[in-house]
Amino acid sequence: MRSNDECLGESLPSRRPGIRNQQHQPCLPARPIVPRVGAKVVTSPKRFTRETQRDNHLNIARMRRDSCSLPLLAWQCRIQNQQLARDRWHSRTRELNFHAITHQIPTWPPAIFEHRAIGFIHRPPGPCVQLITRRSLLKTLAGGALIAGALGSYAFAVEPRFRLAVSRYRVTTARLKGLKSAGGGPLRVAVLADFHACEPWMPMSRINHIVATTNAMKPDLTVLLGDYVAGLKRFRSAIVPMRQWSSALADLEAPLGVHAILGNHDWWVDGPIVREHLERVGIPVLENRAIQLGLPSGKRLWLAGLGDQLAIPLGRGRFRGVDDLAGTMEQIKDEHNPVIMLAHEPDIFPKMPSRVDLTLSGHTHGGQVRLPLMGPPIVPSRYGQRYAHGHVSEDNGQMIVSGGLGCSMLPVRFGVPPEIVMIEMG
Ligand SMILES: [Zn+2]
Repeated sequence: MRSNDECLGESLPSRRPGIRNQQHQPCLPARPIVPRVGAKVVTSPKRFTRETQRDNHLNIARMRRDSCSLPLLAWQCRIQNQQLARDRWHSRTRELNFHAITHQIPTWPPAIFEHRAIGFIHRPPGPCVQLITRRSLLKTLAGGALIAGALGSYAFAVEPRFRLAVSRYRVTTARLKGLKSAGGGPLRVAVLADFHACEPWMPMSRINHIVATTNAMKPDLTVLLGDYVAGLKRFRSAIVPMRQWSSALADLEAPLGVHAILGNHDWWVDGPIVREHLERVGIPVLENRAIQLGLPSGKRLWLAGLGDQLAIPLGRGRFRGVDDLAGTMEQIKDEHNPVIMLAHEPDIFPKMPSRVDLTLSGHTHGGQVRLPLMGPPIVPSRYGQRYAHGHVSEDNGQMIVSGGLGCSMLPVRFGVPPEIVMIEMG
């Protein structure tokens, strides 16, 4: 039996260059591979064109598809009678390099182009491995760009502007047990946080829709957790005047009333003015204040509101709060009636006394962007993802953090749709 090396020197007649040579045709169907050696084609300088290269590509592709075999090819190229180094020649004996080789050969000056098919390597049974070509790579990249574009459009144009979720929670503690609504069911509290009213992300039409959706769920009590004003300095076409959004909030209905606190953005615009607009439409603002609500069943419930913890910017990322937790707790005169605390930023939670049965917070927007497996990469909290969103239960009590309704910093939301929180307690 002859070795491959012996056969490389043979020269066979050929009408066409490349692997269309008759010597190769029997190898196209899949079958146990016996190395076939000796095919050699010498391309005349005049006949080596780009079309030749394309034909060779087609043949290789067909063989790969039909036979599931890897043609093991050896290539040799002479340009202006200068042979490439032998080691380089050997490094190109893989079908993988075929594409690169033929594209490196210039059509001018004339090239003497030889190739020898020295056999086929039979692949084991199983799916054919699709080798990555430039075209498939470009297709993959184009597909990736399309998906990224679609997700980006969704995050910027759809989720923050058009989606509205209702997140429901059920909370029970020893003191909350037995709280009943007028209909005899568990007490239901609606929570609305972080409107950030501005055009086009939170226009009046959307605020009215949120108010109507909340009223349709017939809560016993509705609380507003601050940040009513715009949180975007760029990416907005206009702000919604305070007079307008406060009038829309005046339409909220609940037997135990609608109560509010202020957020950091309200303070950064003008805390006292925001407070004035809420109180003008009959929504009390609980700022370091606790009030008692009488339930139809005769039970009583403490509702407390904390001043904002980031109210006054001091520069370099530092703030002074107007929160007075101790002063607020002093107003709670008994030990047996349940306490609900409204605190715009959830970072106060580790300091919350166990006398508070449930803390309600907003501010984080759930990070605004929540990635699969990873969660929100950016959360405006010194505790990172610990208080980013949802129901938190720790030794001192329970907290629910709303994902909010609007956007701040960037008009983007992904995986954290704007939400109305509905809590059943009792
Ligand atoms: Zn905030």
